[in-house]
Amino acid sequence: MLQNSTFYDVIILGAGAAGLMAAITASRRGRKVLILEKSNKVGKKILMSGGGRCNFTNEFVEAENFISENEHFCKSALNQFLPIDFIRLVETHGIEYEKRKKNQYFCIHSSREILDMLLNECKSNNVKIMCDINVTQVRRTDNPTKNFQINCDEILKDSSNFLKFECESLLIATGALSIPTLGGSAYGYDVATQYALEVTETKAGLVPFIFTDKYQTVFKNLAGISIYSKVECNNQIFYDNILFTHKGISGPAILQISNYWNHGDSIKLNLVPDIDLFDQLNQAKNNGHKVLLKTFLREFLPKSFLREFENIWWGKYKKTPLDQINESILYTIANQIHNWTLNPSSTEGYRTAEVTVGGVKTSGISSKTMEVKDYPGLYFAGEVMDVTGHLGGFNFQWAWASGYCAGLNL
Ligand SMILES: Cc1cc2nc3c(=O)[nH]c(=O)nc-3n(C[C@H](O)[C@H](O)[C@H](O)COP(=O)(O)OP(=O)(O)OC[C@H]3O[C@@H](n4cnc5c(N)ncnc54)[C@H](O)[C@@H]3O)c2cc1C
Repeated sequence: MLQNSTFYDVIILGAGAAGLMAAITASRRGRKVLILEKSNKVGKKILMSGGGRCNFTNEFVEAENFISENEHFCKSALNQFLPIDFIRLVETHGIEYEKRKKNQYFCIHSSREILDMLLNECKSNNVKIMCDINVTQVRRTDNPTKNFQINCDEILKDSSNFLKFECESLLIATGALSIPTLGGSAYGYDVATQYALEVTETKAGLVPFIFTDKYQTVFKNLAGISIYSKVECNNQIFYDNILFTHKGISGPAILQISNYWNHGDSIKLNLVPDIDLFDQLNQAKNNGHKVLLKTFLREFLPKSFLREFENIWWGKYKKTPLDQINESILYTIANQIHNWTLNPSSTEGYRTAEVTVGGVKTSGISSKTMEVKDYPGLYFAGEVMDVTGHLGGFNFQWAWASGYCAGLNL
């Protein structure tokens, strides 16, 4: 049976952070907007974010907080929609929030409030949202007011329903590869390729490391223990907690550095970054301290960590009182704790990664409007693009800002 198509000014693929923000912005301009969402529910990542409290933005958002082949691309959008713009929206909706670690904004109660806020804004601006939609074809037409035709199947309980839409502007906000169960997909890359845009190499980002070397069992024994550390890799440095897991290490400092790690790289950890450990040990030795190293170091490192590592790092001296250990040995031990080199065998991959590093190359997209330069009417926003933020609310700020800019122009 021949199916009539339904026209919308704007069609958005993906009801995540960027897609919802773009829909709100475009509909406020009077545009008739439809969002087509593949999953059975919208905004799954928003709900899971920030441990259920959604770290929705950061007070200080700079281009330096993002990774991209073109480090300047994100600037225009980030200047057009500031963290304060999102915070005001949150306040207008009466959502209580708090600042953590000086500059990261989190909901006090639940991420659900952020999603509800976005959905209420969509509702009051008559945005139509359809879930369980499998887009089968995106086609550009020769008609400038009906630039795109979208064919899809609406997945029903026991059948599917073929649907055809037309629109003037099409936004791809389908996100990226991380966590397929939360909607992660490569679909945006396929559409980009269809319209002659390149896609950079991608990798899992903000993701824990796995170890298969001698540390595997040790880390397992320490699962749940965290240590404030300095972590370095490829000239990048982060100060925050590391967390031992059953498979390796995680924690904010590790997630941050994972964005810069490539297979085969080692990472360097300083487990007591705020003090000169050799100085402390030497002073204690000179003052005639007769305690064991393990006992002395309890002031700086968790007991369970010391129990595991005394055999590995100073097994020969584990029964020797501190004042009887040679200065050069103390130096070696302090140096080990300040400069611990680890060789992750891999990351946990897209299964648990919070983001995808890389994506649709920005060179073919306008940084002001998010429109594809060679295909008027086609837009990209959010994580699908080659813009990846640090941990701390930056990825959502990019989704809001790029979605907003697209929404102003769609
Ligand atoms: C567990 C977790 C916690 C996180 N916590 C934070 C945090 O606290 N702060 C922060 O800043 N960032 C956080 N992030 C990152 C943040 O969630 C993402 O960067 C952000 O959601 C990207 O927004 P987006 O709209 O581009 O993509 P998404 O939010 O992923 O939305 C894309 C949408 O498109 C849909 N879709 C995919 N393919 C298709 C298709 N073919 N057709 C139609 N729809 C499709 C998906 O189902 C999804 O609903 C977290 C990520 C994860 C996984």
